[in-house]
Amino acid sequence: METNLIYDMYVPTRLMFGAGVLNQLNEQPMPGKRALIVISNGKSTRANGYLARTEEQLRKAGVETTIFDGVAPNPTVSNVNAGAEAARKNGCDFLVALGGGSVMDCTKAIAVMATNEGELWDYVSVGSGKGKPIAVKPLPIIAITTTAGTGSETDNAGVITKEDTHEKAFVGDATLFPILSLVDPELMASVPPTFTAYQGFDALFHSTEGYIAKGANLMSDMYALEAIRNIAEYLPRAVKDGQDLEARTRVAFGNSLSGAVMCLTLITSEHALEHALSAYHPALPHGAGLIMVSKAYYKYFIEHHGCDERFVRMAQAMGMPEATKPEDFLTALTRLQEACGVADLKMSDYGITPAEFGTLMRNAREVMGIMFSSDRVQMTDEDIVNVYAESYK
Ligand SMILES: [Zn+2]
Repeated sequence: METNLIYDMYVPTRLMFGAGVLNQLNEQPMPGKRALIVISNGKSTRANGYLARTEEQLRKAGVETTIFDGVAPNPTVSNVNAGAEAARKNGCDFLVALGGGSVMDCTKAIAVMATNEGELWDYVSVGSGKGKPIAVKPLPIIAITTTAGTGSETDNAGVITKEDTHEKAFVGDATLFPILSLVDPELMASVPPTFTAYQGFDALFHSTEGYIAKGANLMSDMYALEAIRNIAEYLPRAVKDGQDLEARTRVAFGNSLSGAVMCLTLITSEHALEHALSAYHPALPHGAGLIMVSKAYYKYFIEHHGCDERFVRMAQAMGMPEATKPEDFLTALTRLQEACGVADLKMSDYGITPAEFGTLMRNAREVMGIMFSSDRVQMTDEDIVNVYAESYK
């Protein structure tokens, strides 16, 4: 099977992985004396005791802390500005992201804006962003992930929504890799079943997209297939029983591998299609939006014979060793969605209407157009609208 025989890998994050690693945070070298702990605007980080445990660990390490609890589920430019203001006002010299993908993504953008002048979109290089280089080194980041979804703990980009222009885009830079990431599956036991499924599928799609991407290579293929194998086998168990630590660990492992895939190759336009959906409908979780478009999206590439053998390999990795044709991937994907209780998600439940498909298509092209360059088959505008239409319920 053809793959690119060259790649460029740079993942300078120290990754501490496994049940209980949060208890070792206090023994690690700290990048500063005063941390801003960034958490979501929900109740769970406090209610589950994760915040108190993290504060205690940092206190033992001789670090003073301030809390910023203003990150929305789809973090916005105003969340970033408020966080950067809190970091500056309190003289923080590093950031601790404690939460899921939204928190880690927002923390990366806060790291940039805490040390640099201007607006976040000055440093965004897609959509209406000005693409300026980041002049001053961002604040160092320690990431403590409480979900298994975005792979943000092992990559160098953060996705942020600019509300006035409906742009869900990303700021990315080699300086934005966390210096230390803790992936402690015990912290994921409290994620409710539906969100476990949404996040798990986000992680899965980072690898399936990476695997069918033009830039797939020797190294990304290895990470992607292993991620797909782990997530497909263990996600249904993690959804059924959140306390199943082995399943949580395996899904978290798959997610970390998927994060590395994104450092090795650009993922494909499935993410562009989804970002348009949740940019206009912020209540739609990223993973749910991906699940909604996924079957029609992959069917398009299968019908156009984008990379037949790769779809067969993915189906095999998803527990169908007998797979021989690319369509088997769609069967494996449907089975996994059914096993996780997310086969019947409806766009209409989030207020999305077919009248928007043209707008969503243009938004996908304008804001995240770069991802279409990763596709092996070029979709027309009409093809994109058709994927939305076929996915609509
Ligand atoms: Zn994603």
